[in-house]
Amino acid sequence: MSIPTLHNFIGGQWVASTSGTTDVIPNPATGEPIAIVPISSRAELDSAVEAAHTAFQDWKRVAVPKRARILFNYQQLLVKHWDELARLITQENGKSYGEAYGEVQRGIENVEFASGAPTLMMGSTLPDIATEIESHMYRYPIGVIGGITPFNFPMMVPCWMFPLALALGNTFVLKPSEKTPLLANRLAELLAEAGLPAGVFNIVHGAQDVVNGLLDHEDVKAISFVGSQPVAEYVYKRAAANGKRVQALAGAKNHAIVLPDANLELTVKEIINASYGSAGERCMATSVVVAVGSVGDELVSRLTEAASRLKIGNGLEQGVFLGPVIRDAHKERTVSYIGIGEQEGASLVLDGRQAPESEGKGSFVGPTLFDHVKPGMQIWKDEIFAPVLSVVRVSSLDEAIEVANQSEFANGGVLYTDSAQAIRHYRENIDAGMLGINVGVPAPMAFFPFSGYKKSFYGDLHANGKDGVEFYTRKKMVVARYS
Ligand code: NAD
Repeated sequence: MSIPTLHNFIGGQWVASTSGTTDVIPNPATGEPIAIVPISSRAELDSAVEAAHTAFQDWKRVAVPKRARILFNYQQLLVKHWDELARLITQENGKSYGEAYGEVQRGIENVEFASGAPTLMMGSTLPDIATEIESHMYRYPIGVIGGITPFNFPMMVPCWMFPLALALGNTFVLKPSEKTPLLANRLAELLAEAGLPAGVFNIVHGAQDVVNGLLDHEDVKAISFVGSQPVAEYVYKRAAANGKRVQALAGAKNHAIVLPDANLELTVKEIINASYGSAGERCMATSVVVAVGSVGDELVSRLTEAASRLKIGNGLEQGVFLGPVIRDAHKERTVSYIGIGEQEGASLVLDGRQAPESEGKGSFVGPTLFDHVKPGMQIWKDEIFAPVLSVVRVSSLDEAIEVANQSEFANGGVLYTDSAQAIRHYRENIDAGMLGINVGVPAPMAFFPFSGYKKSFYGDLHANGKDGVEFYTRKKMVVARYS
């Protein structure tokens, strides 16, 4: 059976890449090839930036309510194609259909937020800054934005970027993950159907060359990046050195603290979802549980029991919870981390290498649980980005917070408890940007900032919400006297 070769989307046209380099995209649940993605050249990126730069001259002048109306059309089309989009996500990424369906919802919510552009773009006025002198602040788009996205949320993460950027009057060049490039093309087709003019949104598939092209091009005014920590740091430094605005959202090692008074039924359900959902490939995944005091034994026993019951398989099959990791290479890396955890002396309670599904063609790793992990161990420190959960045992909330704060990452964190006092103490002392209280995956919605710190974020203004509006606009001040 022949498989499609993806094209770039430049100036409103689907353009075949001429780079001569390609990658095969497998369905990670079956190993079967589903598409070929071009690894485009810098020259191809340059032509997309040129198209976006040209389109910007008209798009920035389109009345804001008219731009918003295109986003409204787009929202309707995404709702209409919800099931199809979710299936495509499962096919190229491996996550379960239910999770993919939820991801589409998150993407749609970003489009809905962006549709409020007329309000979001408003400036401000003070009629009397001095006698008969007034002052106004006007908000304008900044130009061509470059978006670089990871494999784990092929819809939601691009939707953190382009709907808002476009609604505010910018034009956009997206470089999707070369591991999950199919959904991006469908998003572009639907944008065109919604009435977006040619050149306003462009896609160039590829890897480092395309990224470097975006980071260096003088007509690209800002870079929105989401991906792993080393690449985020690199992108931030190179783009900032070239005078661009940058927001670079990076990796994570999120700690969930469980106090003895927590509702264990709810806690276990939330931790199982947060640790093993999407095969652990979420920047808001719980990868470390810190069990405080007497709760440890029962918590580990309940987690083991619940994790052993998870249905592993192709995410399109009914009832499947845990799909594959993204590639065989990622499975091998995960298997090697499980070996490292054993060597480091942690107790391996559940071994994902033993899952029967891990023998087949898909890139499956079963749920893995380590107990008695110590801070400083490599499995505690590194982002494994797979269904591997470490349990650290401590004797107090303060000790638990200290363990979490030792991590070089500071994306999310969760506290399970019924104590208002503990919640306040945790909120005031934990060094992480997105907190859950009895909520396993506390990912903020489109109208709030997505807010990591330390090595989880490089930049100033975060993605989404008012931060997103600030990031994608610049302000002009007028001080006026009418003589
Ligand atoms: P990745 O860093 O490998 O890739 C991200 C993007 O960078 C891709 O488009 C890729 O082509 C590009 N890239 C990769 N290596 C590059 C290089 N050397 N030079 C230039 N460009 C390069 O990340 P991934 O594996 O696709 O995604 C998983 C990572 O993303 C995890 O670390 C996860 O925590 C992180 N993530 C973070 C957030 C957040 O909000 N903080 C959200 C989602 C994912």
